[in-house]
Amino acid sequence: MRAINFSAGPCTLPLDVLEEAQDELVDYRGRGMSLLEMSHRSPEYEAVHNEALDLSREIFGAPDEFAILFLQGGASLQFGMVPLNLLGPGQQAGYLASGAWGTKALEDAGHHGKAYAAWDGADSGYTTMPGPEDIEIRDNTRYLHVTSNETIHGTRLSEWPNEARLVADMSSDYMSRAIPWDRFDLVYGGAQKNLGPAGLTIVFVRHSVLEETNRDLASYLRYDIHAAKNSLYNTPPVFAIYMTGKTLKWIQRQGGLAAIEKAAQARSDLIYDVIDGSDGYYRGPVQPGSRSHMNVVFRLPSEEDEARFLGEAVARNMLNLRGHRSVGGLRASLYNAMPMEGVEALASFMSTFR
Ligand SMILES: *Cc1c(COP(=O)(O)O)cnc(C)c1O
Repeated sequence: MRAINFSAGPCTLPLDVLEEAQDELVDYRGRGMSLLEMSHRSPEYEAVHNEALDLSREIFGAPDEFAILFLQGGASLQFGMVPLNLLGPGQQAGYLASGAWGTKALEDAGHHGKAYAAWDGADSGYTTMPGPEDIEIRDNTRYLHVTSNETIHGTRLSEWPNEARLVADMSSDYMSRAIPWDRFDLVYGGAQKNLGPAGLTIVFVRHSVLEETNRDLASYLRYDIHAAKNSLYNTPPVFAIYMTGKTLKWIQRQGGLAAIEKAAQARSDLIYDVIDGSDGYYRGPVQPGSRSHMNVVFRLPSEEDEARFLGEAVARNMLNLRGHRSVGGLRASLYNAMPMEGVEALASFMSTFR
């Protein structure tokens, strides 16, 4: 029996995708070997690679002005690569310290340049995201870094700031919402939440930005080199790219970005409705306008209740509902591949449990 897996990442993948990969695993399309065993310079792999790149652009609606890079090192490596490449002499970068991830990005940027918090959510316990008017941009700001969805706190940036060029970590709501591309210089995220297995990081970067990046870096750290080599500068994470390509095709079959965005809203609404209709039994700490469509966090009256809830959920095949260890409580991660039936099962269990 397949578990209903609410893991925050790596996380549930579409069953179709897993079964296709299973069918093809040992003997990839009659070649007598698996894709895992083939050269990344083989025509078979090259087709997989280019198809995944094309699908990324098509599904996310990225204009031609953007290069798409398939990298490794997770979003975490981008916390360093972004300032290393983009921050020139005399420039600084603003960061939304909107939660655990935004704060980590800010701290890492500080190792490579001048970075400041353009907004800090610590005072509110990271229960809200800023509106554009809350953000303070200083002089000579090269970019404003935003985390579109704070995975641990369950908050979502609903309004994109417009006062500086944007760089976004979209790891936990990647390709699940349309974005105003004209405001962005760079968008990045790990694949392992919305798009595929761990091991692949996808970066969208403006060609004009590539022309002015810092070149005084080790080769792998240079965006312009990856772009010039079509993300084949070195051995890419071939299996992660293959699986992500299959998931992107699955997204296309669901109706593309607009359909995926609507489905995400419907899934999270269902759980928020249970929380809001529970007479205070379930408490959602996040301000309503900042509620994540991906990670729904909630509390029960006591930690004992929460432990019992988790135990009974497991008995009903609903796994990984424990909140991040740094914040406690409960968290249901409802990424692209989470079927509506899984969310309905959780909503119904929440009502019964209460
Ligand atoms: C998971 C996550 C990260 C870390 O990603 P890695 O790929 O593990 O480095 C960074 N930012 C956000 C918003 C995340 O959800």
